[in-house]
Amino acid sequence: MFKFKIGDTLKITAGKDKGRTGKILKVFPQDQKVLIEGLNVYKKHIKPKGNEPGSIAILPRAISTASVALVCPSCGKATRVGFDASQTPKVRVCHLCRQVITSEKKK
Ligand SMILES: [Zn+2]
Repeated sequence: MFKFKIGDTLKITAGKDKGRTGKILKVFPQDQKVLIEGLNVYKKHIKPKGNEPGSIAILPRAISTASVALVCPSCGKATRVGFDASQTPKVRVCHLCRQVITSEKKK
């Protein structure tokens, strides 16, 4: 079970965006990476092709889960994620306040 879900708010704990927060747009459990809205972006220069002029695209890049912490919706602090296996299905809990973490998934 992956720690993070789409819609979770994460805080970046390492790298150039350290300290910034954003929402998860996509998760890549196999790569242990997440894509966060507006964070870890880079510019891609697109070369002119035929009649199309060159341009600069701003693309978000997935970030390793080792560099992020979940912001608990209950206590508002960056926390580690734990699991409570006594419930079915298993739920995520905040290590600090022990509240169940639910994702506010966009529909
Ligand atoms: Zn909490």
